[in-house]
Amino acid sequence: QQLVPKHNVTIVDEEIVQAANETLTINRNLITALKNEEFTAFFQPIVNATSNQVIGFEALARWHHPDLGMISPGVFIPLAEKHKLIIELDELVLEKACAFLQTIQRYWSKKSQHRLTIHVNLSSPHFGASALINNLQRLIKLYQLSPGQLVLEVTESILLGADQETIERMHALKALGVQLALDDFGTGYSSFSSLCNFPLDIVKLDKSYMSEIETNEKAKTLVRSIINMAQELGMTTVAEGVETASQLRILNVWRVDEIQGFYHFKPMSAEQALNTFGENG
Ligand code: C2E
Ligand code: CA
Ligand code: CA
Ligand code: CA
Repeated sequence: QQLVPKHNVTIVDEEIVQAANETLTINRNLITALKNEEFTAFFQPIVNATSNQVIGFEALARWHHPDLGMISPGVFIPLAEKHKLIIELDELVLEKACAFLQTIQRYWSKKSQHRLTIHVNLSSPHFGASALINNLQRLIKLYQLSPGQLVLEVTESILLGADQETIERMHALKALGVQLALDDFGTGYSSFSSLCNFPLDIVKLDKSYMSEIETNEKAKTLVRSIINMAQELGMTTVAEGVETASQLRILNVWRVDEIQGFYHFKPMSAEQALNTFGENG
């Protein structure tokens, strides 16, 4: 009578129950985790494509869960959005990022004139939050940053339904002196007109293209065109997800400005970054 052997059915059921339990555990723990300061920021260096010098960092959220270990933002960001905790989480990362920049800049200034930048991801609710501008002003002052050192990364989903309010918000952010970057360009509903219609300083090429630029002619053409167009519009280009020397070579031929990827550095803790580039670096 049974079409599927019973043990198979049982295994599937257990997997579903376990997955549901894990989701439940994660949901329940989000609030506690915020209170217990289980969230932190890691920092991935961004390098100049021709000199290979570190010019800044992207702050990336990390959750160190006491039982489950390190949980990736791919898992908890959607949950934080669903549970309306994303603004709090974003703000936490933003503050940690500013504090980190102040500390590392102190050491950096001893060996270089260059001012480092810190990239921070803005979720859509955080981008629209009424407290954002005041909060940024507070942080810039508190951590003695020059506003241009702060790069706010937005995705096209924020720009897509762009009403007057979105554009005004972007100009208000620009008026603070911070830089704006368009993240993950080339994915989803990306359109070239986004590059013209918004006051963007930086465009980040999505990492999904990097594995293809060596082999796929169409991906090649697309990435090269994005770089050319962004540069003609006076924007800085960053290639994300660069993992090999040959990807780097191609991007150099195309004159991409900056590189962020495992080939150079993986995201690291503030402590690791300070050891690598700060006090003893
Ligand atoms: P993203 O903003 O596109 O960040 C870059 C992601 O690419 C990071 O993943 C980074 O670890 C990964 N990456 C960098 N170089 C390489 C490479 O060479 N190869 C590969 N395979 N991956 C590379 P991560 O840290 O897992 O973050 C995933 C996403 O979560 C981020 O993508 C961003 O959309 C979101 N996220 C992270 N932190 C925050 C945050 O504080 N706030 C918000 N709203 N979103 C965040
Ligand atoms: Ca980003
Ligand atoms: Ca990205
Ligand atoms: Ca992303």
